[in-house]
Amino acid sequence: MSSRRYDGVVLGGGPAGVATALALVEQGARILIVEGSHYEAARIGETLSPALAGPLRRLRLRETFEATGPLASFGIRSAWGSGHLRDRSYVFDPRGMGWHVDRRRLDAALAATAEARGAVVWRGQRCAFSHRSAGRWSLTLTDGVTTHEVFADVVVDATGRRASFARRRSNGRVIHDRLVAIVACLAGPHFRSQDAGPALVEAVEEGWWYSSAVPGDRLVLALMTDADLHPRAAISDLSYWTHQLGHRVSCWPTPPACWAAMAPVGSRSATRRPRMTLCRVMVCSVP
Ligand SMILES: Cc1cc2nc3c(=O)[nH]c(=O)nc-3n(C[C@H](O)[C@H](O)[C@H](O)COP(=O)(O)OP(=O)(O)OC[C@H]3O[C@@H](n4cnc5c(N)ncnc54)[C@H](O)[C@@H]3O)c2cc1C
Repeated sequence: MSSRRYDGVVLGGGPAGVATALALVEQGARILIVEGSHYEAARIGETLSPALAGPLRRLRLRETFEATGPLASFGIRSAWGSGHLRDRSYVFDPRGMGWHVDRRRLDAALAATAEARGAVVWRGQRCAFSHRSAGRWSLTLTDGVTTHEVFADVVVDATGRRASFARRRSNGRVIHDRLVAIVACLAGPHFRSQDAGPALVEAVEEGWWYSSAVPGDRLVLALMTDADLHPRAAISDLSYWTHQLGHRVSCWPTPPACWAAMAPVGSRSATRRPRMTLCRVMVCSVP
């Protein structure tokens, strides 16, 4: 087992972790980012508001951001409390427009930029054990095969809603609600990126639907709802989800009839030419 010393270890290489690492590296700190994944899987969180302009400028990340091919977003369209759609345009926002991004690609590019600027990035690693003595942290990191011990003055938990480090060191979370998001990423000729409209939000009785274009001719569709309103097993069942979609959504630009052609990737449609494919359904809970 090898051991190394850093000023700070940032657990989690998402936007928060990388932004923290970049700010610390700029101050001359030796920083290790420990990211659990290899940025291989799709990620959610794809609509970014004009408020992003400030952090991008301060952290000198505009070039990195633009290289990931974001789509401009000129506003949000929503039906909230009534069946009427309202537009909130970014045209008069002094910070500029918003964006639709491929989060997997963006997060990976941000980590690579942090690496290029002097942070050390370990991908596919997690913290298996930690303890603090004499004012210094000792962390045992592992990829499941090998382990390394690292020492640091500061540990930042940026593992997102998992809060994996902080949870081990506290009495747990305060839970106010059991919101779940049932998310699907759809691909197909309906979703040509150059036709991308605004993100759509539509309130329904059990929560709200959200849709947004993402680069690569894809569309993210999500139902945000309370976990206790749906049978547990049904939440990850595609047919249950498409049933909800077919009966609830009234505002989407694509006619509801075409949802019937949706099929999981890998399955064959009757015509062998599916009009759209469902590339991934992810279920995640939002504490
Ligand atoms: C359903 C849903 C939809 C959302 N939509 C939007 C949206 O459209 N626009 C928007 O701005 N925000 C959206 N958000 C919020 C957005 O996703 C978060 O605010 C943002 O991702 C937080 O960034 P983060 O870096 O704190 O955490 P994350 O993005 O969650 O990053 C955490 C990182 O830590 C890594 N990690 C996790 N566990 C470990 C571990 N044990 N060890 C090492 N690494 C680990 C993960 O792989 C990941 O890279 C959405 C959130 C949800 C749940």
